[in-house]
Amino acid sequence: MAEQQHQFQAEVSKLLNLVVNSLYSNKEIFLRELISNASDACDKLRYLALTKPELLDGMGAFRIDISTNKRDRTITIADNGIGMSHDELIENLGTIARSGTTEFFERLTGDEQKDAALIGQFGVGFYASFSVAKQVDVVSRKAGEKEAWMWSSEGTGEFTLTEAEKETHGTTITVHLAKGESEYLEEERLRHIVRTYSDHISIPIIIATKDGDSQMNAGSAIWTRSKSDITPEQYAEFYHHVGHAFDQPWLTLHNRAEGKIEYTNLLFVPSSPPFDLMNPERKHRVKLYVKRVFVTDDCEGLMPGYLRFVRGIVDSEDLPLNVSREMLQHNVVVDRIRKALIKRVFGELKKKAEKAPEEYTTFWTNFGAVLKEGLYEDQENREPILELARFRSSTAEGLTSIAEYVERMKDGQSDIYYIIGDDGEQLAKSPQLEGFRSRGLEVLLLSDPIDEFWVPMVGEFGGKPLKSVTSGDIDLSTVKKEEADEAEKPESADDADLAKLILALKESLGDAVKDVRSSDRLTDSAVCLVSDSGDMDLHLERMLKRQGQMQVPTSLRIMEINPTHSLIKKLSVLVDNAAKRGDLQDMAQLLLDQARIAEGETLSDPIAFAQRLNTMMERGL
Ligand code: ADP
Ligand code: MG
Repeated sequence: MAEQQHQFQAEVSKLLNLVVNSLYSNKEIFLRELISNASDACDKLRYLALTKPELLDGMGAFRIDISTNKRDRTITIADNGIGMSHDELIENLGTIARSGTTEFFERLTGDEQKDAALIGQFGVGFYASFSVAKQVDVVSRKAGEKEAWMWSSEGTGEFTLTEAEKETHGTTITVHLAKGESEYLEEERLRHIVRTYSDHISIPIIIATKDGDSQMNAGSAIWTRSKSDITPEQYAEFYHHVGHAFDQPWLTLHNRAEGKIEYTNLLFVPSSPPFDLMNPERKHRVKLYVKRVFVTDDCEGLMPGYLRFVRGIVDSEDLPLNVSREMLQHNVVVDRIRKALIKRVFGELKKKAEKAPEEYTTFWTNFGAVLKEGLYEDQENREPILELARFRSSTAEGLTSIAEYVERMKDGQSDIYYIIGDDGEQLAKSPQLEGFRSRGLEVLLLSDPIDEFWVPMVGEFGGKPLKSVTSGDIDLSTVKKEEADEAEKPESADDADLAKLILALKESLGDAVKDVRSSDRLTDSAVCLVSDSGDMDLHLERMLKRQGQMQVPTSLRIMEINPTHSLIKKLSVLVDNAAKRGDLQDMAQLLLDQARIAEGETLSDPIAFAQRLNTMMERGL
């Protein structure tokens, strides 16, 4: 049968290049990756065979065999797992289907050192073998099928597929070592690598020696061992394997629940955000085992989407081994486990927040935006999530909790104030905050897209309403200005003049605004925009528009003017001056446009804006 030539997907070629050029300091992990895949393959077959025992076809126990050939300079890793068909070989070893890959490539800088670190975080799986190989052959036969195929590549642009002979199902990978990689032919070196990275693998890893077979790993599922027997390194290696992650776990939750429901959980919270965190699928990453047998990594009810940064396993004693996908939906046992796991994760996070606030801040920066989704979709757990939440604020350093905010509230302040926008830095400078700042009122600065959604759903904390500073019906008169400010309170424009100015502005702007009015919200800026009560928040409207939800109608804004601002005062005096009437038209438009710019909005007619501005500048010269 003729050889079939295939090209690698462009991304794979890029990745292979990177592997060869940047993995040099840590080549030995290729073995970990191949063993990890072999172990996954055995898990998959073991589960399939629960309903189709004929797939095992008289085979013995699951095992992973490692052997070397010094003359040929090869190392071979063989498993009796599920194997791959012709098409699966192409799909799995010729493309990268993993989520987050695009983002990975976007983040590459071209700087070898930085990209090597990135690869460390991302993991290259099977392709790591090319860091030590000049050629890799994969012979595989899918369980239940007769034909076998050999995939072969030198790790450059292409690979070949040829029909092959294989007596049993499973996969045998032969790594032809490149020059200078002879160390991987030494038994002791291999034993050391397996003990370091793969001891937690529950399938026996066996090396053929001159004295016969010898098992290299402990060979029992790590979560069945007692905590005191497991080193942090062993936990970390298991985390890397099960979570397809390459950072260190920040939190490790290893518990055994006994009583109404029995299960063991071994869960990890990563120390850095994984690439696929913001995938629209929002799939959680906890695998379900039943009595030590892998069942699925797709049991939706096991963890909520807002805890999708958690990685690890749950091993249940109460589910039947041959549990089907249908049975897992709305399953009482799964529901109970989920509720208990959520509690457990929250409990650990709370402890960390109290004991190690700095670490907790890093955690929150990594995963807060995801956890806050729970405020929106998990009513039952709103309170604990709100307690765990941290926010930037207009007055406090670093991050603050809502409870801390409430403690700092002023006499006469009944609402919890917030402002929402895209960028925390920008928010801190919003004109709408001026009046709050001058009264010493703290405002929470919310800059995650999800904030738009949970805030209106949650509405309050401890009976205190959450209130946007850009809403039109804010009344700051109940809170006194800070004393220093009170003393040097700037003079306001004359009431009658101001009324005339407002009338003139309204006339000039016509339908462009809903209303024009005087405001105590401002101290330094001349104008700002606010939304009428009942209208959509400014930021939400912009966000929905950006997402292409064009059916969102543009609600008209109220333009507020600052009666103590010198420009407004001058204008109010000049309103009556007939000679200046023409200018007022332009000035009104300029005021509105600058309020829009401060809001971060784009002007509908920037050219006209520039022309008006130029005219005014010229006149000032
Ligand atoms: P990952 O393990 O993260 O999915 P890899 O690059 O390590 O990425 O492997 C790619 C895919 O190739 C695996 O998801 C699996 O489907 C397949 N694969 C690799 N090795 C084996 C094996 N020994 N047996 C069966 N399938 C395998
Ligand atoms: Mg892998």
